[in-house]
Amino acid sequence: MEKKKIIVGNWKMNPLTQKEAEKLFTNVAKNISTTKTTEIVICPPFLYLEKLKKISLGHSLTGGARKISLGAQNAFYGDIGAFTGEVSAEMLYDIGVRYVILGHSERRGMGENNIDINKKIKSALVAGLRPILCVGENVRDPDHGYFNLVKIQLEECLSGISKNSFGKIIIAYEPIWAISSTPDRKDATPSDSMEMAIFIKKVLSDKFGKDVAGTRIIYGGSVSTKNAKDFLQNGGVDGLLVGNASLNAKKFIDIIKICEALKQ
Ligand code: PEP
Repeated sequence: MEKKKIIVGNWKMNPLTQKEAEKLFTNVAKNISTTKTTEIVICPPFLYLEKLKKISLGHSLTGGARKISLGAQNAFYGDIGAFTGEVSAEMLYDIGVRYVILGHSERRGMGENNIDINKKIKSALVAGLRPILCVGENVRDPDHGYFNLVKIQLEECLSGISKNSFGKIIIAYEPIWAISSTPDRKDATPSDSMEMAIFIKKVLSDKFGKDVAGTRIIYGGSVSTKNAKDFLQNGGVDGLLVGNASLNAKKFIDIIKICEALKQ
C-alpha cells in the first residue's frame, strides 16, 4: 500500500479573486523542489480549479516546480442529473482534479451526515478521485465518548467500501476544537494525534480487515511551521491537512520543506 507522505492545503472559501488564487498557487509551485518524497495537494474553491490545473501543468512541463495535485473541497454523488448547485466527482475528474476533501467539519456543520458522506466517497472512488475523509470530535469529554463518535464516523462513512479501495482513501483526523476558526480553540498535541491515529487503525482493521490498517492517516487542526515537524514525527500520521497556513505561500512552502526533510 502506498505510504508516501502527503501535505494537503485546504483554502476553504479563499482567496477573494482568481488573480489572488493564481498568485498564491504560482508562488507555491515555483518554490517547491522536484523531490518526490511528499505528495502535495491544494484544494481551492471549485471556481479556481481549472485555471490552477493549467498552471500546474505548465510548471511541470517546463521542468521547474513539481506538479501539485489539485483537490476539491466537496463533490456530490452521482455523475450528472437534477441536483441544482452541485458539482459531481466525474466533472471534477474531467478537468484534472484528483483528490476531494469529504466530510469536513464545516460541511457537517451545514447538515451533511455520515450517510451523505458515504455516498460521496463511493462516487468519488468510481470517478477516480482519492477521497480525503475528515473525522473528528467537537470536544474531548472526560468519559472519552469522542472515541466512539470517531468510530461511528469511520464505520458509517466507509460502509460498503471494498478493501482494495482503501489504498486510495486518506483519513484526516481533525479535532474540531483545535481548528483555527473554532472560537476558544485549544492546541491539540502530537500525542492526541498519535492516540487517535492508533485508534483509527484499530477501527479500520476490526471493521474492514487487517489489510486496511495501512490506510494513510493525516492530522489537521491549526498546523503551522512551528508544530508541523512535531506532528509528523510524533503524531503517528503520514501527513498534514493545512487550513489557514496554506493561504500564506511562505508558510505552506516551509511546511512542505519540513515534511521533505524528514526521513520517510
Ligand atoms: C481545516 O479546517 O481543515 C484546517 C485544517 O484548518 P486550520 O489549519 O486553519 O485549523
